Amino acid sequence: MNAVLINLLYIAASILFIFGIKWLGSADTARRGNRLSSVGMLLAVVATLLYLGLDWPMVAAGILLGGAIGAVAATRVQMTGMPEMVALFNGFGGLASLLVGAAEYAKLRVGGVDHYLELLQAQSGVTVPGWFVLVAIGLTALIGGITFTGSLVAWGKLSGKFPGKPSLFSGQQFVNLVAMVAAVTGIVLMVAGGETAWAVYAGVALVVLALLLGVLITVPIGGGDMPVVIALLNSLSGIAAAMAGFIILNNVLVVAGCLVGASGLILTGIMCKAMNRSIGNVLFSGFGATAQAGTGVTGEMKPSTVEDAYYVLEAAQSVVIVPGYGMAVAQAQHAVKELAGILEENGAEVRFAIHPVAGRMPGHMNVLLAEADVPYEMLQEMDQVNPIMPTVDVAIVIGANDVVNPAALDDPSSPIYGMPIIHAHEARTVYCLKRGQGAGFSGLENALFFGENTRMLYGDAKATVSALVAEFGK
Ligand code: NDP
Repeated sequence: MNAVLINLLYIAASILFIFGIKWLGSADTARRGNRLSSVGMLLAVVATLLYLGLDWPMVAAGILLGGAIGAVAATRVQMTGMPEMVALFNGFGGLASLLVGAAEYAKLRVGGVDHYLELLQAQSGVTVPGWFVLVAIGLTALIGGITFTGSLVAWGKLSGKFPGKPSLFSGQQFVNLVAMVAAVTGIVLMVAGGETAWAVYAGVALVVLALLLGVLITVPIGGGDMPVVIALLNSLSGIAAAMAGFIILNNVLVVAGCLVGASGLILTGIMCKAMNRSIGNVLFSGFGATAQAGTGVTGEMKPSTVEDAYYVLEAAQSVVIVPGYGMAVAQAQHAVKELAGILEENGAEVRFAIHPVAGRMPGHMNVLLAEADVPYEMLQEMDQVNPIMPTVDVAIVIGANDVVNPAALDDPSSPIYGMPIIHAHEARTVYCLKRGQGAGFSGLENALFFGENTRMLYGDAKATVSALVAEFGK
C-alpha cells in the first residue's frame, strides 16, 4: 500500500480525533464526539493494517483476544466500577507502549542498529539517527512502566482492594528522586552503550525502576486527591503512546498519543483547581495521611422522614440537587430526574449543582445525569450556584459528602481545607440522603450532617428518591 495514501488516511483519522475531542467538551455533543473519534480510530487501525509485512495471524489473534476481553469488561462493569476500569485501561495502555518499546529494542538488538534503521526508513520513508530511536525506546519504557504500575495502584485504591489512605515512609521523596535519577541514567547508558551487553542490562534496570516508580509515586497519594492522579495517569498513558509512535515512526500514534497526553494534562489542571491544590502539592504532600474522622464536629444528626420532606419540598420555590458518589452507587439518576420534573411541575425552580470531583471519575455526575436525559441547562457549576445558595429553599444532597463538607471552608486543620465546595449548608433547609453514618472518600466527618437546618433521610438514595416521587403522586 502506498505510504502517501496511508499518511493521508492518518491525517483524516487525526482530524476526526480532534473534532471528536472538541465535541466531547459539551454534554450535548459528547455522544457524537465519541462516535466520531471511534470512526477515526477505525480508520487509523485499517490504515495500519494495510502496511505490508504484518504478521496477520498474530494481528487477528490480538484483535480477537483483546476485543473479547474488552467486550466482556464493558458489558459486565457496573456503573460504579467505571473509575476502576478506566484506571485499569490507562494502565494497560502504558503496558502496551512498554511492550512496543521492548519488542522494538529486541528487534534492534537482534538485527543490529543499522539494519533496524534501514527497515524503519523503508517502512516510513523517514531517516532518523540511532540515538533518536534509543531515546524514544527509553522514554517509552520509563513512562509506560510508571503508567502501568501507577494505574494498578490507583485501580486497587479506587476498588477498595488497597487502603485508600496515603502510605508514607520517611525519606520517601528522596527514594523517589534517586529512583528517577537512576532510571534516566539507565536511558543514557542504553543510548551510550550502543550494541554492547551492558546497554541491555541498563534497559532491564530501566524497566524495573519504571515499574517501581509507578508504585512509589502513587502510594503516597490518597484521600480526595485521587481525581488528580487518575487524570495524570490518563495523560501519561497518552504520552507513552506518543513516545511509542516516535519509535516506529507512526504519525497517527504520535498524534493520538499527544492528544490524550495534552487533554489529560488540561484535565489534571482542572482537577487541581477543583481541589485548590498545586500538582506538586498533590504528588508530594501525602494528602489525607493525617485525616481523622470526627474531628471538631459536635451535635447530633436529625433523622427525618419522606413524608416530612414531601411537605417541605411541596412548598419550596427553589431547589438545588447536589449529587455525589452515593447517587452513582444507588443508580438513582433516573429517579432523581423524575423528582426534578415533579418539583418543576409543582412550580419550583430546580437546579443541579455539579462539583468537578463529585463521584469517582472526572465528569462522573455529568455522565450519570446525561444518561438519565437531565437537560443540560439544569446543571450548574459551583461558581454559578454558590452565590444563590442562601436564597435556596431546599438543598437535596444525594449521596454527596466530601464535596459539601464545610470543613473545607472553615477548618484550617482539615486536610481538605481550601478545597472549593458546594455551599449546600447555606440553603434554608438541607435534606441529606445517605444510607447511614458512612464517611466520604476522604474519610472525614462532615459538619453539614449535624447542621441546625439539616435533616437526614437515611436509606439507599434510589429507594428514598423513589419514595419521595411516590409521595408526590398520592
Ligand atoms: P463521597 O465519596 O465523599 O461520599 C459519598 C457518600 O455517599 C458517602 O458518605 C456514603 O454514605 C453515601 N452513599 C454511598 N452509597 C449510597 C447509597 N446507595 N445511597 C445513598 N448514599 C450512599 O462522595 P462525593 O461525590 O461527595 O465526593 C467524591 C470524593 O471522591 C472526593 O473526595 C473526591 O476527591 C474523590 N474522588 C473523586 C474522583 C473523581 O475523579 N471525581 C476520583 C477519585 C476520588 P453512607 O455510606 O452513609 O451511605
